[in-house]
Amino acid sequence: MKVWQELLGQPEAIEQLSRIVEDKDSGFQHSWLFTGPAGSGRSTLARAFAAALQCSSNGCGECPSCKLVLADAHPDVRMLVTDKVIISIEEVRQLVQFAALGASLGSYRIVIIEDADRMSERTSNVLLKALEEPQEKTVWILCAPSAADMLPTIRSRTRNVVLRLPSVEEVAQLLAQRDGVKEELALASARQAQQHVGMARRLALSAEARSRRMETLRELVGIKDLSSAMATAERLLALAKKDAEASSEEKSQQERAKLLAAYGIEDEKIPSNLRSEFRQLEENQKRRNTRALRDGIDRILTDTESLFRDILSLQLGAAAPLINQELTQEIQNRAAQTSAENSIAVLEAISLSRSRLESNVRDLLVLESLCTKLIVRGFVAA
Ligand SMILES: [Zn+2]
Repeated sequence: MKVWQELLGQPEAIEQLSRIVEDKDSGFQHSWLFTGPAGSGRSTLARAFAAALQCSSNGCGECPSCKLVLADAHPDVRMLVTDKVIISIEEVRQLVQFAALGASLGSYRIVIIEDADRMSERTSNVLLKALEEPQEKTVWILCAPSAADMLPTIRSRTRNVVLRLPSVEEVAQLLAQRDGVKEELALASARQAQQHVGMARRLALSAEARSRRMETLRELVGIKDLSSAMATAERLLALAKKDAEASSEEKSQQERAKLLAAYGIEDEKIPSNLRSEFRQLEENQKRRNTRALRDGIDRILTDTESLFRDILSLQLGAAAPLINQELTQEIQNRAAQTSAENSIAVLEAISLSRSRLESNVRDLLVLESLCTKLIVRGFVAA
């Protein structure tokens, strides 16, 4: 069915869920937990599943119902996207209320919680109650990096669908087929984004995103001493900001176009009965924009990670091709001048940076301490 086509390299999950959709009446499962690494497509899968459940032909992708779900505008499907580190108890209470009302247009009421791992125990318990006594036509879909991120009580109430990270070749193939990207660029983008589909597509389609990535790497290999490390941290933050602005702008325009298409509006004139839908979209986008800088910094961390994976892979004599072939000389120099132990320490510092950002440590501080780590571990320009 067409609705699954956006998903990449997840045949097992699609098989499992489409069987459920086709056989809705036998022992329907109301609560789901979709887990997988960032970029594996958890929320894309959740949206596709919701569309397939609501569609009278199990997810054609073409009917008004499918289009509304895919544009996040279906009145019986709600998706909680949070810009906060922690999902508030009030947000979950509202979802429970929404779920308790019967479906208005579709066959089900469906609630999707992105980042369900961001709930405190108390908030999880509010949700747990709803999961324990599900309404007949209500479906809950929780998304999280792994099942271990959820409370055991929630885990035991939900059925887990596990997504994997697609391979570099699969991502490249998607970019080539769907977006018409040339093979070489598609492969390079997939490799540089480390299989993160959305990130790979941006790199493949935007020369500016590619140049920001290159600039990030050049900043990192240009660090000489403490004062240049501090200046680099500042420039990296500025790059993350630029990147965040560009990517939210692109995404917002695409979403608006999708919503207009879902309602069959061709001339941008929004009828008054639909204004609140568009206002809702704008509010969601505003929320997301505050998160966009985080994502921009996360991309910087991903790029840094790719550089140190390359260095480590040379140090360990691995045969895999370098992710950053443009910087082969610099990578070789650093591999020779330091040790695998140092590269591993930097990779650890990168994951520490991620968790510090999650716990709201100031952005610049996180980047400064990472850049300083490079000097401490001997990664300095000659
Ligand atoms: Zn449909």
